[in-house]
Amino acid sequence: MKKLALYGKGGIGKSTTASNISAALALAGKSVCQIGCDPKNDSTRLLLGRNCRSTVLDTVRDKGDAVTYDDVVHTGFAGVRCIEAGGPEPGVGCAGRGIIVALQTLEELDAVGEPDAILYDVLGDVVCGGFAVPIREGYAEDIYIVTSGEMMALYAANNIAKGVRRFASRGKVRLGGIIANSRKVHNEEELIMAFAKRLNTQLVAFIPRDPIVQQAEIRRQTVLEYAPDSAQAEVYRQLATRIWESTGSDIPTPMDFEELEAMVYHYGSR
Ligand code: ADP
Ligand code: MG
Repeated sequence: MKKLALYGKGGIGKSTTASNISAALALAGKSVCQIGCDPKNDSTRLLLGRNCRSTVLDTVRDKGDAVTYDDVVHTGFAGVRCIEAGGPEPGVGCAGRGIIVALQTLEELDAVGEPDAILYDVLGDVVCGGFAVPIREGYAEDIYIVTSGEMMALYAANNIAKGVRRFASRGKVRLGGIIANSRKVHNEEELIMAFAKRLNTQLVAFIPRDPIVQQAEIRRQTVLEYAPDSAQAEVYRQLATRIWESTGSDIPTPMDFEELEAMVYHYGSR
């Protein structure tokens, strides 16, 4: 069983990428479970064709101990099992704490079971206690960081690498690599490749920015479903294969902010 997590800055493309990876793996015959760990609750929207109706935390709030498997597990495109951890109302409570409760509830219900692949889609602007839970508690083992060549995305990616490094020393968690999701930044691929190398890991995919992603999104579909013959679908299929065939093995070596800034300047100004 592959226990995967995608981390990255908010809005960078984690859920889009995760959903397309899940779809590609499922279409290749694997059993897949995707778990959204972001208070936005939209990780699995493209797989379900709608917003998830009941998140784990909502259901726990409504039903307490009476929550059942069917309340929290929803079946999406190609049979992917979809779960949203959920989050507190904006401005109330701690999203990180919510993830802890949600993951514990899933364990009690044996909701995740033993699929071929589990994908945690985790917001990683800050790797606070709660958002580190999938790494810290051994839920996820192979960590992939999604970033563009933008400064703030790389800043978040470097912080996530710090979190992975901390927990890699005591358990099985390892960095699988960096997934570049393009924002058409100047010299973007070279920059992210250098960034990955400096972090002691590799660039596992460079995903082009392509309007077909929005065309699929407005129909609430993955690219794998909407345009399976497109070049973009092939990029996601290759990424899924690469992730499936490799095992996270890298202990990252993050840098300080000044060094990251200098790296961004170096590639951006060439
Ligand atoms: P996150 O889960 O990291 O918050 P999303 O996956 O929701 O981010 O993506 C944010 C927006 O970026 C969405 O509107 C999505 O369609 C768009 N997007 C993501 N990846 C691409 C891409 N490769 N090309 C074009 N648009 C993309
Ligand atoms: Mg998301």
